[in-house]
Amino acid sequence: MAAYTWTTTSPDETMQFAERLGEQLESGDVCTLEGDLGAGKTTFTKGLGKGLGVKRTINSPTFTIIKEYQGRVPFYHMDVYRLEDSEEDLGFDEYFEGEGVCVVEWAHFIESFLPEERLAIHIAYESDVERTITLETNSEHFDAICKELTS
Ligand code: ADP
Ligand code: MG
Repeated sequence: MAAYTWTTTSPDETMQFAERLGEQLESGDVCTLEGDLGAGKTTFTKGLGKGLGVKRTINSPTFTIIKEYQGRVPFYHMDVYRLEDSEEDLGFDEYFEGEGVCVVEWAHFIESFLPEERLAIHIAYESDVERTITLETNSEHFDAICKELTS
């Protein structure tokens, strides 16, 4: 398992970093996003969507759980916070095994539905404007992307 760490000092910087990641994601990729409330998961997702070519504004899907956007591939933004410990299956396989890119905020609440191969993103609050972003993966595909982001 390889881990890569970056520090950002503004929401814009987080979005720009996420945009670079989004530019490299491909059909079928699944990213999990963890971090406390207000850490920056949705902010990160906005940048990711931009990198995937989504033109619409991306907002927090807390009350809908899954929001769908169209970029150069379909983009599914999930916030499964409300499914905490419910084991409810909203047809996740179809999303995770489909043609789109999936990003899942609070992914550990649906741990049993997550695919083996994924990019784990963790955002930690350091101060008002500073965040530590960690990318972790056990797949060569995502490892190559992380290395690219480092250079
Ligand atoms: P979450 O989805 O994790 O609950 P949000 O993205 O909705 O978090 O909110 C993050 C908040 O933190 C926003 O108000 C954003 O402006 C602020 N913020 C401050 N500094 C940063 C940073 N470096 N990266 C991301 N967000 C930041
Ligand atoms: Mg959020």
